[in-house]
Amino acid sequence: MERRDAAHQNEGMTASALPLIAIDGPSGVGKSTTTRRVAARLGWQHLDTGAMYRAAALALHRAGLGLENRESLEDLLSGLDLAQQDRHIFLRGEDVSEAIRSQEVTRLVTPVSADARVREVLVDQQRRIGASGRWVVDGRDIGTVVFTNACCKIFLTASPEARARRRFLELQAKGQSPVFEAVLADLQRRDLADRSRAVAPLCKAADAVELDSSDLSLEEVVDWIVARHQAHR
Ligand code: C5P
Repeated sequence: MERRDAAHQNEGMTASALPLIAIDGPSGVGKSTTTRRVAARLGWQHLDTGAMYRAAALALHRAGLGLENRESLEDLLSGLDLAQQDRHIFLRGEDVSEAIRSQEVTRLVTPVSADARVREVLVDQQRRIGASGRWVVDGRDIGTVVFTNACCKIFLTASPEARARRRFLELQAKGQSPVFEAVLADLQRRDLADRSRAVAPLCKAADAVELDSSDLSLEEVVDWIVARHQAHR
C-alpha cells in the first residue's frame, strides 16, 4: 500500500512546512471526494484545482477563443473570476459546477491545462487561496509546483482498470450507458497527456508518499491520510 524510501521519511516536515495537505494523482482516482472528506474530518477547507482548469476551459470555449489567440487569451485570463464554495464552482458569479463536467469541457481541458499562460494564472490564484494553511488541495502538481512546502504530500494512485471501473459505475448510477473500454481509453488518454506535457507534468514529488487505492474503500483511504497527517504533525 505504501511505497516510500526510508530516506524520505521526514522530508517535507521542515519548520517552515505549511499546514496543507497536497493530494495529487491521475484522473479518476477519487481525489476530489477524498479531499473533501479529509478536509471535513480535519475541519479544514478543500480546493479542487481540476475544477479551476475546467472552468478556465469553459470560459475559453464560451468566448470562442483558441489558445493561439494570444492577446484575447491573456485578456480573458487576466479577468478570470473564479470562486469555489463547498462542491460548487462559480465563473463570474455563475454556478458552472455541472457545465464543467460536460464531455466537451473534459476534452478541451487537456490542451488548456497544458498551456503555460493558463497555469501561471491559476497557480497564482491557488497559492493566494491556500497561503494561510489549513487547506486540503487536490490536483496534478500541488506537491511538485504549487505548494512544495506542504506539510503532507500524498500521491494517490490506482490501476487504470480500477479507476475505469469506478468511473463506469458512477456513470451508470447517473443513468448513462457507458462502454467500459471507452471509459478506460479516455482515462489512459488523459494519463498520458498529463504525464507527458512539458509544463508541470503529473509526477510524484520526491517527498510525497504514494498510496495505491486499487483495493481500498473511500473510508480506508480517508482514514489512512488523516492518520498519516496526524502522526507526522
Ligand atoms: O481533476 P480533474 O480531472 O477534474 O482535472 C481536469 C484536468 O485538469 C485534468 O485532466 C488535468 O489535465 C488538469 N489539471 C492540471 N493540474 C491540476 C489539476 C487538474 O493540469 N492541478
